[in-house]
Amino acid sequence: MSLDRGKWATGGPETVVPGVHRIPLPLPNDGLRAINVYLLADPGGLVLIDAGWSIPESLAVLSEALAGLGYRLEDLTDVYVTHSHRDHYTQAVELRRRFGTRVHLGAGERPGLDLVLALRTDVPVTSLDVLRRGGAPELAGRLAEGYGEFDPSGWEPPDRWLDAGTVALRHPLEVLPTPGHTRGHVVYRDAGRGLLFSGDHVLPHITPSIGFELGEPGLPLGDYLDSLDLMRAFPDTRLLPAHGPVAASTHTRVEELLAHHDKRLAETEDALGAGARTGAAVAGALTWTRRAVAFDDLNDFNRMLAVNETVAHLDVLVARGRATVSEVDGVARYS
Ligand SMILES: [Zn+2]
Repeated sequence: MSLDRGKWATGGPETVVPGVHRIPLPLPNDGLRAINVYLLADPGGLVLIDAGWSIPESLAVLSEALAGLGYRLEDLTDVYVTHSHRDHYTQAVELRRRFGTRVHLGAGERPGLDLVLALRTDVPVTSLDVLRRGGAPELAGRLAEGYGEFDPSGWEPPDRWLDAGTVALRHPLEVLPTPGHTRGHVVYRDAGRGLLFSGDHVLPHITPSIGFELGEPGLPLGDYLDSLDLMRAFPDTRLLPAHGPVAASTHTRVEELLAHHDKRLAETEDALGAGARTGAAVAGALTWTRRAVAFDDLNDFNRMLAVNETVAHLDVLVARGRATVSEVDGVARYS
């Protein structure tokens, strides 16, 4: 491929259409490299979609990018956040603290955020429970020990919880709930200009993790596949993702993601056929990331995401009648 795959992260701001600017903000020590926030210049104010991770270097890059466009941080009136993961949400809280910026978040994120505030922890306790249920208690124990002190500063409720509806801007934004990556994830659709601000729901290069949050796990992959399907109910748009470059078609990527999960479900079923019985055993039999890395070569955090994702696929197979599950000593055994 002639195009540098990482250029979207390091190349600085990009004007997508007049008045819509993609601004990549740094995520140091994170495999995702950067998060795109999108600046919308509206007659009623200056709007951001997603805000970045609240660290000094991110705020500095945002400030510089705004200055290059003739704005200041204090000109930001509203931030519409796609979901409450720290790389999207915490800087919105910081902007509000400093400049009074209004923060908006999907109503479905409320239970997860309430739990973070109640438990006061960064430890992904729900994902660790899924790990234990998936037959990987040692991994859960190691991960639980790896977390430092909880920093509560970025975890405050938004000013407004958003339901499905429309944000009244000159170019109105439809708010579409898309549960899966998190329960309360939303995407913002500008139908007039044919743009979809997709957050982590539809990403051009990677498949988003599923259900990495606090609270009842439910059937996150089933929700996610339904939310992908929902994108096909609308005319196609350009794809403006939170990680990766802008792409010409949302539908093309949605088809690829649906095909990926179909293949994954088939591989999961094959691993069951070959005798694997737990989430951890099936995860160990599969390869990971687009580079087909062996499970044992992943770090602990990515092993957690891998086992969680495998359990999510197994639970969808059960829901579709292609597998059965029984619980033995707190471990789900599939066949
Ligand atoms: Zn996320």
